[in-house]
Amino acid sequence: MSCLFCKIIAGEIPSTKVYEDDQLVAFKDITPQAPLHVLIVPRKHIATLNDLEPGDDALVGAMTRRAAIIAKAHGFDSSGFRTVFNCNKDAGQAVFHIHLHVLAGRTLSWPPG
Ligand code: 5GP
Ligand code: ZN
Repeated sequence: MSCLFCKIIAGEIPSTKVYEDDQLVAFKDITPQAPLHVLIVPRKHIATLNDLEPGDDALVGAMTRRAAIIAKAHGFDSSGFRTVFNCNKDAGQAVFHIHLHVLAGRTLSWPPG
């Protein structure tokens, strides 16, 4: 298994987990870009958004809903938060196991760089 996030999910590489269930794991980003920066990943290895199948719709829905729950748990539901999926080179995807970034705790600029 060569995937970094599969290794984190398996516990072979340490991480600061904030949530896990039978489908998802959420852990703190090692290089946080905001006071709260969590990555939500499916246990199932899916390389990019381009590889999603119809059967993954509920999984992606669960990731999105979990982002809102995690933001709220940290007190950022009203002040706001951002969720981001990067896909492939131009978006800066560096780890090819889909992950939803959850960023909060500062004003985030738009448009993104
Ligand atoms: P991407 O650019 O693929 O959307 O985001 C990958 C994210 O994974 C980056 O924000 C990066 O800081 C984070 N990351 C890379 N390696 C590790 C690691 O070993 N542990 C954790 N917790 N995050 C990592
Ligand atoms: Zn993986």
